[in-house]
Amino acid sequence: MTCYLCGSSDYKVRDGKVRDNDTLDVLECNNCGLVFLSNLGHIDESYYEDSSMSEGLDVKEWLNETCVDDERRFEFVKEMIINKDIIDFGSGAGGFLLKAKEVAKSVTAIELDNKIAEHYKQNNILRVTEINSLENERYDVITAFHVLEHLSEPIEILKLLVFKLKKGGKLIVEVPNSEDALLTIYKNEAFSNFTYWSPHLFFYNSKTLQLLFKKVDGVEMEFVKHIQRYPLSNHLHWLSNNKPGGHQKWGSFIDSPELKKAYEAQLSSIGATDTVVAQLIKR
Ligand SMILES: [Zn+2]
Repeated sequence: MTCYLCGSSDYKVRDGKVRDNDTLDVLECNNCGLVFLSNLGHIDESYYEDSSMSEGLDVKEWLNETCVDDERRFEFVKEMIINKDIIDFGSGAGGFLLKAKEVAKSVTAIELDNKIAEHYKQNNILRVTEINSLENERYDVITAFHVLEHLSEPIEILKLLVFKLKKGGKLIVEVPNSEDALLTIYKNEAFSNFTYWSPHLFFYNSKTLQLLFKKVDGVEMEFVKHIQRYPLSNHLHWLSNNKPGGHQKWGSFIDSPELKKAYEAQLSSIGATDTVVAQLIKR
């Protein structure tokens, strides 16, 4: 197996199990640092069409689960989408677009999950299932939140998305960080066995994300930013109880706004946040 980004066949096997598929290993390229599963072809589109991402949740529960992220993402892009034509690629339950449509000129969802078709219709959000259905149109802003890591051919898909951008248009990408402190500093075994998941084919960091975008013509990186979605209480809970959900149990008395900010800044300074966001501009 060779690295998708740099072609090197020099890699190591990372600690940790893929939680829903014990035939897969998690590999890390020794040359560029890209983290990837040992088989990239085990999932096809029908997996997403059949609501595997939202298993068991109805739309309301799904929206409830994403509301904090939806709000943060909306605040981040609000100024740049006013009166603009935007696409959210891999829009899930549509929580971000429901907010965005209040200020944008038009919003379009690209989402495979068939369960949400009716919900999008009711909310007057145009939904397509593939980029090529957007024929003869150009957009100002395209967002892709936690989607890139699911794609087996991300460069090909990014090229299609960039083609749909107007000149000067922006592409905003958010992915989980392969250098998450729980994996690389605290080396929490339970977290390693929880976070690796078969639909997450690739795991990027700020460096490999930049390498990836260098392979996409016509687009230039404006910045890469580290974000911490889960606060200190969550990490302490993993370290003491080997379980998620610490922020719900302990957050009210551990995570002051000041501490949240300081912890995020500290993890950012060493590249070990749980999330990375990149902004690109079409030239
Ligand atoms: Zn590599």
